[in-house]
Amino acid sequence: MRPICVPCKVQMRPENNGVQVVYHSQTPPQPYEIWDADEWKCPKCGHCIITGFGGGALHQHWQPDFAAALARIPAKDRRDSFEWRSDADQEHESLDYIAEMEE
Ligand SMILES: [Zn+2]
Repeated sequence: MRPICVPCKVQMRPENNGVQVVYHSQTPPQPYEIWDADEWKCPKCGHCIITGFGGGALHQHWQPDFAAALARIPAKDRRDSFEWRSDADQEHESLDYIAEMEE
């Protein structure tokens, strides 16, 4: 089943069936895991999504070959993923941090 672009109401098309997604974690963000996945593109508006992740990460940050695996990803196939945090979340975290400092 193909993904649907909600605003355009059309099926997306496979754009790249072999992207490697680099998940980042922690603050500041660090490469954490590498996953194989598929990229789909809306033929109308051009927005792309990534789905079709395999059952597990190809590489994880604690493995000795992680840096080499990161370096081997062709630039055209690499996609990066970061945790999105709203300004409100960041402000909340810094307030917690200040509260801890004052205790
Ligand atoms: Zn679209």
